[in-house]
Amino acid sequence: MDLIIKKILLFFQMFFMKKESGGAVSKKVTSTSSKSKVSVKKENSKSQTIKNLEPKKEVNLNKKEPSKTTNMDTISLKVLRKGSDGPQVEQWQLFLVGQGLLKVADGDFGQTTKDATIEFQKRNGLTADGVVGNSCYGKAMTLGFEVVQDTALEKTSAYWPPKPDFDAVYNDEKRFEMFGKFEYTADEQGTVTVIGTWKDENIITIDVPQLKGIDMFGKPKASGSIYFHKKAAPQMQALWAEWEKAGLLYLVKTWNGTYSPRCIRGSQTKLSNHAFGTAFDINVKWNGLAKRPALVGEEGSVRELVEIANKLGFYWGGHFSRKDGMHFEIAKLL
Ligand SMILES: [Zn+2]
Repeated sequence: MDLIIKKILLFFQMFFMKKESGGAVSKKVTSTSSKSKVSVKKENSKSQTIKNLEPKKEVNLNKKEPSKTTNMDTISLKVLRKGSDGPQVEQWQLFLVGQGLLKVADGDFGQTTKDATIEFQKRNGLTADGVVGNSCYGKAMTLGFEVVQDTALEKTSAYWPPKPDFDAVYNDEKRFEMFGKFEYTADEQGTVTVIGTWKDENIITIDVPQLKGIDMFGKPKASGSIYFHKKAAPQMQALWAEWEKAGLLYLVKTWNGTYSPRCIRGSQTKLSNHAFGTAFDINVKWNGLAKRPALVGEEGSVRELVEIANKLGFYWGGHFSRKDGMHFEIAKLL
């Protein structure tokens, strides 16, 4: 019994001694040891934590990645129907072109694309509704339709270049804020008469030497002297200088004007950016309103000019929902 009690006592003694000495040591470290020792200790514990976390992280990443891929697939397989547009429509149309069912892939799912889709569905024993859904994609994939091909990145695509990271200025209030407020009247053709002194105060004549001699669509050649909004004038001049520096001026075939007091085409109430002297048009013939702007490599294409324009705060009309490929306008004052 004695022995057992002694052993128990010894055990407790050792236990408390350990605890005390442990406490004493750690106290010593914090109170008397140098800071570097403490920081080393901290670092060690940190690296241990990181090491401990690492495998967990990896597991998490591994779990996440497949689901990301799945998301991409889901996006690629968006249901397409009449009225749809975008790169995925173009991708589907390219497939139909390959099947000999369609002639042009323009990114707009209109009646022709619907008819071609119906024909594809009939040929393959699918429900012929002209809507590209699961069964349609499924059949198409067995015939070589590529799901994850990203047509937006192809330079010759109708969706190149991609939209910039800023948006166009769509409402007049914001434009008035940026370029000054004016009162106006508009006639049936959408021609605007500006009331007051806004024009005299804001529209100035500037020289854009790179413009000189460019064809003006039957009119005398451009003089290089244009009207522009005074706040945006430096950006306009910088734009043309940058295009010249990049060797891109050969792409500008015709000059089609800047300041024009009018509403957007088809409207009597919504002002065009031309009415603010902050927009200009080039290469009209190949980039008509509501038409697919000429592709890279086609005559009159302006697409390769867009990147520099975006850098200088211009938004390209080819990125509007109603395409206006001839058109560039100031969306940001730099
Ligand atoms: Zn325009």
